Amino acid sequence: MKGETKNSKTESYDLVILGSGPAGLTAAIYASRYHLNVLVVAKSFGGTANLAGEVENWPGFKGSGAELMAKMKEQAENFGAKFVETNVESVEKTKEGFKVLTEGKEISAKSIILALGTENRKLNVPGEKEFLGKGVSYCATCDGMFFKNKTVAVVGGADSAAKAALYLSEITKKVYILYRKHEMRCEPISLKKLCEKENVEIIYQSIPTEIIGDKFVKSLKYTQTVKDKEVEKTIDVNGVFIEIGSTPMTELTKSLALEMDQMYIKTDKQMKTNVDGVFAAGDNTNNKFKQMIVAAGDGAVAAKSAYDFLRFGSK
Ligand code: NDP
Repeated sequence: MKGETKNSKTESYDLVILGSGPAGLTAAIYASRYHLNVLVVAKSFGGTANLAGEVENWPGFKGSGAELMAKMKEQAENFGAKFVETNVESVEKTKEGFKVLTEGKEISAKSIILALGTENRKLNVPGEKEFLGKGVSYCATCDGMFFKNKTVAVVGGADSAAKAALYLSEITKKVYILYRKHEMRCEPISLKKLCEKENVEIIYQSIPTEIIGDKFVKSLKYTQTVKDKEVEKTIDVNGVFIEIGSTPMTELTKSLALEMDQMYIKTDKQMKTNVDGVFAAGDNTNNKFKQMIVAAGDGAVAAKSAYDFLRFGSK
């Protein structure tokens, strides 16, 4: 059933996977091996995993996130999955299944896997928008090199902030980490590495209030709680890396009336949503442990569930 064409603008697939991070790509590998005719639609291949510098916790692999994603995509293609890099405009339920509208194309699908991942959470302080690309960044591995031998601040206290700070400490002269609580809550191995770095300084109980500059960022204002008092402070920095987590990309799926768990798509252990034929995998789901390997596992399960649904129906 390879890429059936209904008319010049409509293509039909057994399974359309939205998103191509570890969840979407693993789902594509598994679903193709089940001989489903699969299309992966994504804005950019690899998703946010592409931005991971050195991946240290993918069993048996050493390399960058982008390298791993490229290998996974190639593997999915070798099993027959098709890929299209485009914006998805809408997803709707139809009598026969689902209709996915992309820029200029209508795709029909008998089943869907939502693996859309997340987008960066914003700090929402003055200067954040104004200096985006002029010192403000959400991606240390993408933009770190612009700050060679300079001074930067990383905002956040979990794994992304820790990884960004470790990466930046190798390039820049000095890295400040601003975290609102009293102890970083990243993996202990990362905290140990950070504490061993001479050019990393963690400023606890601090909340950024403004990013200041002219053409480029020059300083960061923050309030710090010192002995129960809030003190206003400023540090001179050339860059501010905002690593304060992310929110799931679920906007597109509103039309499907999916049951949600707070902002995340609710699934059961088979990665089924409350809508027959719709499965979800990876960071856009209510799975609490947001890791590439977990997303990949979700993707495998979602592909098997989609296969069972197409073969045996919803029961
Ligand atoms: P998280 O949501 O885990 O953490 C966000 C951090 O930013 C927290 O420290 C949070 O503070 C802080 N924060 C949130 N909002 C604000 C705000 N408005 N102002 C200031 N600080 C704020 O996001 P991560 O991106 O770090 O991680 C996401 C997931 O990805 C996690 O599951 C993580 O384990 C995983 N990950 C794993 C990696 C690995 O190598 N194993 C690498 C990167 C991510 P508070 O602590 O107070 O909530």
